[in-house]
Parts: sequence; C-alpha cells; structure tokens
Amino acid sequence: MKILKIDHLGIAVNSIEEGKNFWTDALGLEFEGSETVEEQKVTTAFFPVGESEVELLESTAPDGPIAKFLEKKGQGIHHVAFRVDNIEAALAELKEKGIRLIDEKPRKGAGGAKIAFLHPKATNGILVELCER
Ligand code: ZN
Repeated sequence: MKILKIDHLGIAVNSIEEGKNFWTDALGLEFEGSETVEEQKVTTAFFPVGESEVELLESTAPDGPIAKFLEKKGQGIHHVAFRVDNIEAALAELKEKGIRLIDEKPRKGAGGAKIAFLHPKATNGILVELCER
C-alpha cells in the first residue's frame, strides 16, 4: 500500500452556507464548490489547502451518517482521508493485517473518487478514509 498524501480533512457542519465563511473570509481559502452525494446523504464543499483540502460535510437527511454524527458529537472533525495509489490493494492489505474495515469494497465519493472507511475501533478512535482519484 502506498499513502500518497493527506487528501482532505472532513469536517461536519450544521450548514455549509453558514460554516464556509470562516474558511473563506477568515482564512482566505477558495471555495471550490459543493456536491451532493445522495448515496451518503451528504453535501460536501471543498476548500483547497496546498496539496490537500478541507471538506465540509452537511447532512441531507436526518437518518444520514453526518446527521447521526452531529447529534452525538456536534460539529467538528469527522474524518481524515489519505490518498492511496490503489484502493482495492490497500483494503486487501489492511484486511490481511486484521484491520477492521467499514467498507470492504470502495464506494463512490465526491468528485468521482473511490473511497472506503476504516473502523474507528481499529485506529484508536479516528475515522480514517482511504481515497483514490
Ligand atoms: Zn472525505
């Protein structure tokens, strides 16, 4: 498995419209636009930061994973995403190492990326996403 870089930090917010001002006005980042991923019941907004990005996540449904996260923990860091060169090979390798996975197979993420989450129990409490684009 080859980790290429931190692809993005996923941050759960109640509202992208309200949450984005800090990133644009205070930090001077560029708002790259938003995209809804129906499958995940989430709208994402990306703000490039050098080689990586900040990803704001807003729920589109009360039973979606981001809605549940906000209910339990409130707004804040939701996941860290690492870009890999081959996500299928990375998942197979982690599985062989006994790492608990949420997604055994990649699913479709924003921007046409292939993504998969590792279980927080296997990572000392952090939700880790692998992505390939
Ligand atoms: Zn993400």
